[in-house]
Amino acid sequence: MNFVGSHILGVEQFSREDIARIFDVADSMAPYARRERVTRVLEGAILGNMFFEPSTRTRVSFGCAWNLLGGEVRETTGIKASALAKGESFYDTARVLSGYSDLIVMRHEKSGSVSEFAAASRVPVINGGDGANEHPSQALLDLYTISRELGHQGKIIDGMRIALVGDLRFGRAVHSLCKLLMAYQNIQLTLISPEALKLPGEYIVALENKGHTVTESHALQSGIQHADIVYVTRTQEERFESKDEAQKYKGLFRLNQEIYTEFCEPNTVIMHPLPRDSREDANELDNDLNDNPNLAIFRQTDNGVLIRMALFAMILDVVEQIDATSRNVNWYTSRRF
Ligand code: ASP
Repeated sequence: MNFVGSHILGVEQFSREDIARIFDVADSMAPYARRERVTRVLEGAILGNMFFEPSTRTRVSFGCAWNLLGGEVRETTGIKASALAKGESFYDTARVLSGYSDLIVMRHEKSGSVSEFAAASRVPVINGGDGANEHPSQALLDLYTISRELGHQGKIIDGMRIALVGDLRFGRAVHSLCKLLMAYQNIQLTLISPEALKLPGEYIVALENKGHTVTESHALQSGIQHADIVYVTRTQEERFESKDEAQKYKGLFRLNQEIYTEFCEPNTVIMHPLPRDSREDANELDNDLNDNPNLAIFRQTDNGVLIRMALFAMILDVVEQIDATSRNVNWYTSRRF
């Protein structure tokens, strides 16, 4: 695809070559994300960071990615603080906000809302998550992480074995990741969820039609054996009719070090789109895994900045200008990456 000036609404718009190109550009962003080099390539550009649904890392990492390229960020958080709460349409909001920004990232609880917004926007729009539908930048950073983690083990994405655990019905990160995997070959997926939170049938049919192997399971211990990647997710309680309904599914699958040691292979990589629900009734990914070197959750969040910088640079067509306009940082940096 031609990235310049494009909206990023869902992962189906990417070919395998597009994904490889994003990953290459993301690699080249590492010196900036690690605070070794500084670029001002987006000096004067404004990001409209519009999060009408709760977010921590997606919102902040998109903002930081833009800042690291030298641009300014203007933010709206929460629907109550916006004119949408006064009955304004996505069309009007998009027309207005796109007059104030060079690019917009938007998140909203309604599936399809970001596409509706983008259709009226005068600048490119990136989907920061629309309901249970899509979360394209999360899927890209997840797949980037998978490819780098497997790469260290001499493996590639094609042929990998991945176990997806938890709320596969409402989890948009899982939905986008499954769609992105369509671009690869011979993936062996084990889907571990309660019956009521199964991955919707259309994803399974599409994965199988692409030649991937899909096995469904209700048991964590047997499902995570022989997996290269175990990808755990949170019960998406905000998408249930009531908190009580969501409560039924919390804590059904809990991964901790003891279970990991007994059932996983020595190098199985543990991932989670975060936030992990660490409350006692859920505790889906125990803190006793924090020192496990195969816990990749914070590498995922670091990689999110690289991917988001890459998307900005490609959409705004500045990739080639970055290194030419950059310099070393002039402050002492004690950060460990
Ligand atoms: N942060 C991810 C999302 O926004 C996953 C989650 O919230 O559970 O979809």
